[in-house]
This record gives sequence, C-alpha cells and structure tokens, in this order.
Amino acid sequence: MIQKILIANRGEIALRIVRACRELGIKSLAVYSEADVQSLHVQLADEAICIGGPRSADSYLKADRIIAAAEIADVDAIHPGFGFLSENAEFAEQCETCNIKFIGPPSSAIRSMGDKAVAKETVKKAGVPVVPGSDGPVANEADAIKLARTIGYPVIIKAVSGGGGRGMRIAHNDVSFAKELHVARNEAEKAFGDSSVYIEKYIEKPRHIEFQILADEHGKIIHLGERDCSVQRRHQKLIEESPSPFLIANPALRKKMGKAAVRAAEAANYQNAGTVEFLVDAQGNFYFIEMNTRIQVEHPVTEEVTGIDLIKQQILIANGEPLGFDQSDITFDRHAIECRINAEDPARNFAPSPGTIGLYYSPGGHGVRVDSHAYSGYQIPPYYDSMIGKLICFGKTREIAIERTYRALSEYLIRGIKTTIPLHKAIMMDPVFKEGKATTAYMEDFANRTPAEMFE
Ligand code: ADP
Repeated sequence: MIQKILIANRGEIALRIVRACRELGIKSLAVYSEADVQSLHVQLADEAICIGGPRSADSYLKADRIIAAAEIADVDAIHPGFGFLSENAEFAEQCETCNIKFIGPPSSAIRSMGDKAVAKETVKKAGVPVVPGSDGPVANEADAIKLARTIGYPVIIKAVSGGGGRGMRIAHNDVSFAKELHVARNEAEKAFGDSSVYIEKYIEKPRHIEFQILADEHGKIIHLGERDCSVQRRHQKLIEESPSPFLIANPALRKKMGKAAVRAAEAANYQNAGTVEFLVDAQGNFYFIEMNTRIQVEHPVTEEVTGIDLIKQQILIANGEPLGFDQSDITFDRHAIECRINAEDPARNFAPSPGTIGLYYSPGGHGVRVDSHAYSGYQIPPYYDSMIGKLICFGKTREIAIERTYRALSEYLIRGIKTTIPLHKAIMMDPVFKEGKATTAYMEDFANRTPAEMFE
C-alpha cells in the first residue's frame, strides 16, 4: 500500500498532487529548489526537502538527488507530474530498481512511446492511422529530400525526442527543406541532446484532438473522452476544452477515434494515465501524432466533464487497484474550458514577465476552478516555465462555459506582472472561437486581425 508519495515537481501541478494525496490519506513529500523555498507546494506538503540550486538541471532534473530524498524520507512512490523527469524512461527504471513505485507507465511503455518515430510504428501496426511520413529518423539530406518529394510538400520536420513544440520546422519546397532540416537538427540537439529528426506530411489547418486514457495493471484500458487543443501558439497549447466542438457535431467520429486511442495504448502495453494525440483534417480524417505518457497540463477539463479525479486514479492504479468503472460508465455531461494563465506579455510578442506579484485575487463562483500556486507577494522565479495557473470553467453547454470563462477572467486581479488574461478575454469574445471553428492555424489568424492594444 502506498503511504507516502514524493512529488518530483513544482508549481500548480505539485500542489494538485498534494491535494489528491491529502484526500486519499496519503502523506506527501515536496522536493524543491533553492528558488522555490516560498512555494505553496512546499508549505502545503506534509514534509519538504531541498534538492539543489535554482536551475532545473541542478534540482528538478537531478534524478539521483530525488531518489536519495525518497530513500531518506522513506516514501513508497514518486509522482513526476509533467515536464521535468515525467517522460524519462531511465528515471522510471531507477525508481523500479530502487523498489519505489513510479506513478506512471512502466519504463518500457515510456520508452516505446517516447521515441516519436517508434511510437508511430507501434500504433501503425495496431491499425491506428498515422500521418504519412518517414518510417523512423531520416538518414541524410539527399534521402530526406527524396522522401519529402514523395510525401509531397508542405512537410514538417520533427525532432524524434521532441516536446513542447520545439525542434519543429515546416518546409514548402526543396530549397526551404534543406535549410529547415539543418535548423531543426540544431534546435533538436540543443533542446534534447539528440539531433535525429523525422518528416511528416504537413496537415493544413488541422484540429488537435487528444483522448485521455486510463489503464490499470490488470489489462483494462478505457478512454475518458477527448480534449480539443487547437488554440495553440507556436505549437504550444493556450486553451483546451472538452468535448471538442468538431466531435459534438460528429459523434460517430468520436467513437472511432476513442477506439483507435485505446488500440494505441494497448499496442504500447500501457498502464496508468496517458494521452493519445491526433490531428484531424476538415474532412474528419484523423492521424495519430504522439502519445504523452504522463498526466497533462489540461487534465482538469476531463475531470470536470467526467467527474473523475485523474490524479487519484493514477495513484490508485499505481497501488495495483483495478479501475472501478467500465467504458460504458463514463458520461460526458458538461462542457469545460481551460485557459493557461502565463506570466507573459501578449502585447509584446509574449515576452516572459517574471517578477513579484503585488496583489493576487483569483475568480470564484459557480462552475469555476482555479489551479494555481500564485498568491499576493509571490515572486515568480525566472528559471522555469511561465505558467502561473490554469482557469477551468464549466457548465451545461459550450455557450455557458464561454460566458463563464469571460466572466471569471474579468474577475482576476494580478498586479506587478503581465499575463495572458487579456488575450484569453479577447478570444472568448471572438466569433470564430465562439462558433467552434478554431484549428491550429487559429492563433496566427487571430493575432493578424486583432490590434495588440486588445491584449493590454
Ligand atoms: P510536441 O511533442 O512538441 O508537443 P506534437 O507532435 O505533439 O509535438 O505536435 C504539436 C503541434 O504541432 C500539433 O498540435 C500541431 O499543431 C503541430 N503539428 C505536429 N505535427 C503536425 C503535422 N504533421 N501537420 C500539421 N501540424 C502538425
């Protein structure tokens, strides 16, 4: 039985995991960097251990120190959250070796899904449609150009070890391909220490629709419906919602995609929570792009639509318990929208805006959930990503969820830093978004037709 969990993360997700532990009667241990001494997860966890300097490389990415902290504090399990070590197969393996339960899939599943090229091969064999492209990493420029011509331009060059939208370049012809291949390799090497890239047909104006998977350790795999994450900036998600407006109009497609997502998870011998990501074109053709083998930032929209606490489910699964429900028990009776509140200035090309939050007041009321580690006087450290919280609003219909999101965004009082709140307000009023027509090309188009003063 799991009695104490080390949370190998920071910020709102660390806080989210502390909360789940408390409700389950499990003790929590926070680990933190010197820059996070004042962090809420450190204050609210039952115990806390400092593991190193401010830079992630000196703390949250130091697997050996985290394992040492786990052994000193005598924990049974480690929850990695997202980012940092969450998709690091060696770390999961180290936990397995030290007899500490890694709250996530087995290291073998992280390995097979973590390499995007291997992942595509794996699910393709299981009959899940994938984007046409290279079978595995491309070897040299000459071969790659040949293949790009066969696939047909435009193509997208992607890092095999990629994540967070980095190491991704689009090419429209042979000349731009040669240049972008070079840039993508460099970017991938810098960001992931691995310069290998693969190429795919670039799907024009698709929707990004992903399915939440839960799999227990006894072979049962189900999905908890979809999230539409088409509102993205530079391939990074800004707004997520469930259900997808596109699938509300196509319930048969939802069924088909849900089944394909479960098949993909089966092909990876998956356990615990994970997400199968697809791109969907205007005709309703869908293509697997990757599987995220961890909890995701946007998990709350699924929680509010299905009523299922995903972090608790992760812990129960890791505890060896069978899923307490079947696919037919999962119902979707609400609409939920999440806005990522980032310390960035949308009027100045999303420049990071770290600093001290003077006053912080977050919205509340019916149908409003705020997952955040911010408070009045909180100093945002410059070392980590810029997300300071998530606003999740839900209601019976999409219209209600949009109105509620706008109302809640208007209640926020955050002094001292710039945030993405004005941008989210403008999007909630935008007719294209309101009609549920946003594709991954939406943000660029929206920015082009919206004066920057709207985001002040
Ligand atoms: P990451 O792991 O970096 O998040 P993904 O493979 O999940 O990368 O892709 C992120 C986003 O990049 C997608 O949601 C989509 O907007 C865009 N993208 C990725 N592959 C393609 C493709 N083949 N065609 C069009 N857009 C793509």
